[in-house]
Amino acid sequence: MAGRISHWIDGKPWAGVAERRGEVFDPATGEVAAHVDFAAQSEVDEAVQAAARAFPAWRDTSLAGRSKVLFAFRELLNQHKDELAAIVTAEHGKVLDDAAGEVARALENVEFACGIPALLKGGFSENVSTRVDVYSMRQPLGVVGVISPFNFPAMVPLWFVPNAIACGNTVVLKPSEKDPSASNFVAELWARAGLPDGVLNVLHGDKVAVDGLLSHPAVRGISFVGSTPIARYVYDTGTSHGKRVQALGGAKNHMVVLPDADLDLAADAAVSAGFGSAGERCMAVSVVVAVDPVGDELVAKIRERMAGLRVGDGRRPGCEMGPLVTGAHRDRVTSYVDAGLSAGASLVVDGRDHEIDGAAGGFWLGPTLFDHVGPDMSIYTDEIFGPVLSVVRSDTYESAVTLVNDNPYGNGVAIFTNDGGAARRFQNEIEVGMVGVNVPIPVPVGYYSFGGWKSSLFGDTHAYGPDGLHFFTRTKVVTSRWLDPSHGGVNLGFPRND
Ligand code: NAD
Repeated sequence: MAGRISHWIDGKPWAGVAERRGEVFDPATGEVAAHVDFAAQSEVDEAVQAAARAFPAWRDTSLAGRSKVLFAFRELLNQHKDELAAIVTAEHGKVLDDAAGEVARALENVEFACGIPALLKGGFSENVSTRVDVYSMRQPLGVVGVISPFNFPAMVPLWFVPNAIACGNTVVLKPSEKDPSASNFVAELWARAGLPDGVLNVLHGDKVAVDGLLSHPAVRGISFVGSTPIARYVYDTGTSHGKRVQALGGAKNHMVVLPDADLDLAADAAVSAGFGSAGERCMAVSVVVAVDPVGDELVAKIRERMAGLRVGDGRRPGCEMGPLVTGAHRDRVTSYVDAGLSAGASLVVDGRDHEIDGAAGGFWLGPTLFDHVGPDMSIYTDEIFGPVLSVVRSDTYESAVTLVNDNPYGNGVAIFTNDGGAARRFQNEIEVGMVGVNVPIPVPVGYYSFGGWKSSLFGDTHAYGPDGLHFFTRTKVVTSRWLDPSHGGVNLGFPRND
């Protein structure tokens, strides 16, 4: 019988009212694996109040005390990384090895936050005026909301939660309703690491939970990751309620292949970055821009590699690509195969025919390749978020750059070339937030920050790393003078430094 996934509030599972529930599937079989509670407004209030109650004591916990919890959590996460990866695979569908990679990248963010005592140092200027000192400090916001997408159910929450907590905030996390179990597992590990009750709460649900957080007066900041229309809505709604918001949206990532590139390397990269996690990555390559004359040879090499890909149940050894997350999403992605065909693109590999190593009811679509894709076709303009790769032919480097820069998204981009000068020019000219040079998925390491440009991010701070600390703190500057018997008495003029 399918289990029930409930909220985690104030350090324990919260049975709640559960007036509404959602189905959580095993995408490799198509069966309902569990039901997840959808929060009512009263439960949003419970979670926010628990976080608000926990805030004063957590804010006043010493940096040594907070980092002790972070180090303990880091150890527990490392010990339980295989279990967490298995949970991700069971509900998301990505193969186990890929899920393990997700957890490894999540650990990076925890390790960064372990350095919080050094990272939160402020500035100090002695004697800016006679006997006057000035110093700055970074203080937490209070209760913050984290709203995450389905495609990285372990990593994306952990882009934000460790930094938010390390900075002294308390958190209400609203994970995707499609794969909610990873967040509960992680919340239990935080509790075992010694995190006080109420510092991290997990609220499951849909728009009701999100809207509740966006309008709640006690919530001071929102970190959101998801599709562009919802990111825009979250940014507009959250900021109109006076909150600090960072909202990361969707993507259409290009990989530009110049004529001098190593085409074997480029073909390996296009296949890995296009079809890893069944294309359900915000940094997946979805468009290969082949600059003349490499198109025919590159397409042949990509096609050759696709034939050998093993698609199936992510728990079976040897499977390289799993199913899509839900049947509805698989149908939407599959509809793009028809759309590409009717728009006149050449279907080089039809993923609907791919052999599957998995149950018949799974949400399958094999890797699909279109060539001669035009910039007006929906397979080019829309974020498909599935294993459908498009090749656009470009006659020059300049027209390739114009194509990328004209695209409304600006998350990731890659250039494949052996010409250092061309790569350097590209990184300067391209209007995209994360650039790879002979690297197809340029996700920055945890001590840089992650974020796109244009419609891929609303707000001005990127996720994790230094920007994460910036987002989760506000700066206060103190100007102090300690009493001196020679102070100058009453002076109504504006304070001058001399
Ligand atoms: P989504 O936008 O459907 O959902 C994201 C979150 O918003 C979920 O928690 C969901 O419950 C909530 N939500 C959904 N509809 C809502 C509504 N109408 N009102 C309020 N909240 C709502 O995204 P998804 O399908 O879960 O994830 C895939 C998307 O996320 C893709 O577009 C992908 O590019 C994007 N993504 C972006 C990044 C990035 O860093 N830029 C990273 C991962 C995923």
